[in-house]
Amino acid sequence: MTATVAVYQQDAYARSCEASVLESGPDGVVLDRTVFYPLGGGQPGDTGLLESGDGRTWRVVDTRKGEGGRVLHLLEPDTAPPETGLALTPALDWDRRYAHMRMHSALHLLGAVLRYGVTGGQIAADKGRLDFDTQDEIDRDRVTAAVNALVAANLTVGSRWITDEELDRQPELVRTMSVQPPRGVGRIRLLDIDGVDLQPCGGTHVKATGEIGPVVVTKVENKGKRNKRVYIAFA
Ligand SMILES: [Zn+2]
Repeated sequence: MTATVAVYQQDAYARSCEASVLESGPDGVVLDRTVFYPLGGGQPGDTGLLESGDGRTWRVVDTRKGEGGRVLHLLEPDTAPPETGLALTPALDWDRRYAHMRMHSALHLLGAVLRYGVTGGQIAADKGRLDFDTQDEIDRDRVTAAVNALVAANLTVGSRWITDEELDRQPELVRTMSVQPPRGVGRIRLLDIDGVDLQPCGGTHVKATGEIGPVVVTKVENKGKRNKRVYIAFA
């Protein structure tokens, strides 16, 4: 089974690419390559259009992981899918995706400020949250100021790949206790925010923290004995 080339992992800023249809059916449209990020790691699946050279378009309402490294583009219900082999241009709803990139990156900064284990998280275009494994009190104003200082520092956000074995030798890299990074693919992508955060992450991020813009911690909730849920939004 041919996997989909994940253009979004190499270049999160690619809004479209050239592609062709590998398979098309009720589960979705599989392309040989795509800029569409599939739901995962708390980040929603992308939406947008598939455009063919003859002027036809298909609306993608969600994107999911399929089997064997394939990416499934989910079309509106009752849409006749594009035919196998057709050359297409997948084109993102960029404003939505870019908001996800900014919010996703902001959550990394939140996790850098609050150095507790992370047990869950959720990203949306206008807000996000992380669950922390702690009983400590969390001061909203202090955390807001600390995150915004990291935003203002305009730190470089980079990534590099390591092997499964290298990660096994550095288990402290894994902050997300509920979601272990995928093994068995042979290599794992590490997100690196200029000495502030280093951890496995397959999501899409901005290339410098200044792009996030000011954020605010809107709420801290107690979710169980050892769990604090911290919400942030764009200020
Ligand atoms: Zn990430």
